[in-house]
Amino acid sequence: MSEKGILYLVATPIGNLEDITLRALKVLNEVDMIAAEDTRHTLKLLNHFNIKKPLVSYYEHNKKLRGNYLVEQLEAGRNIALVSDAGTPGISDPGEDLVRLAIENNIKVTMVPGPVAAIAGLVLSGLPSGRFVFEGFLPVNKRARKERIASLVNEVRTMVFYEAPHKLVDTLKDLYKFLGDRQIVLARELTKKFEEIVRCTLSEALEHYSENSPRGEYVLIVKGKDEQELVDRERQKWEDISLEKHVEMYMSQGMSKKEAIKKAASDRGLSSREVYKSLLER
Ligand code: SAM
Repeated sequence: MSEKGILYLVATPIGNLEDITLRALKVLNEVDMIAAEDTRHTLKLLNHFNIKKPLVSYYEHNKKLRGNYLVEQLEAGRNIALVSDAGTPGISDPGEDLVRLAIENNIKVTMVPGPVAAIAGLVLSGLPSGRFVFEGFLPVNKRARKERIASLVNEVRTMVFYEAPHKLVDTLKDLYKFLGDRQIVLARELTKKFEEIVRCTLSEALEHYSENSPRGEYVLIVKGKDEQELVDRERQKWEDISLEKHVEMYMSQGMSKKEAIKKAASDRGLSSREVYKSLLER
């Protein structure tokens, strides 16, 4: 039986064609066929680099049928490159389904890494990048969208979203409503001539973009909840009950006095010694 082909996930530029990697060019030149989200868009890229290859479309509405066809081709020993409209295939595009299908069919999948709009926006934002959460596009359905944002209220990591210009103002409104006046960075047209990074608060962004219509592709980077604020809020909850009642509450739940003091101390951000001392003084 002939050997199976390899599926190459090839990242392409997110705007500036000079961001193509040498390996991406080599692989695109060597594979048997290229599967692309938008063949017209990819054809421009291929023409620019003088690459001539059979192109097939692979996008949201044909991904099931076309996915099976691509797997058949891979099974027959053909090497295929998957590219998205921009950036890394599999990030907010149907690429992830093809990867899963290939893995299920024991086909080797490998990666030619390159640009990702989310990562470029995050590192340019100046917001903490040590821990972050990628949220992609928010759901279109109103309810699902609100639930998604509501689930992020206590998220302490920096949050990264994708957004199209015509939905930007609505998204800013929803983010402001649920998350409050957080810091936000709007990274637009990254790597392109009109690249723009706006660093402000959600209310400032809302005011600005309600008056000036947004243009271009956006990555939104929103600061996570202040961890100290969360701790303070948790501690504030205990301010209304006395220390004695607090310790008694845990003892009535079956804890020993020592355990109850330890737990109450931790709730209030105190040491067990401090709690002992203050209970004795009272
Ligand atoms: N796979 C891509 C990646 O790796 O970033 C993302 C594909 S997703 C369908 C397209 C979204 O990515 C856009 O709506 C926008 O939010 C973001 N995006 C893509 N290119 C961008 C750019 N040059 N500047 C800012 N955002 C960009």
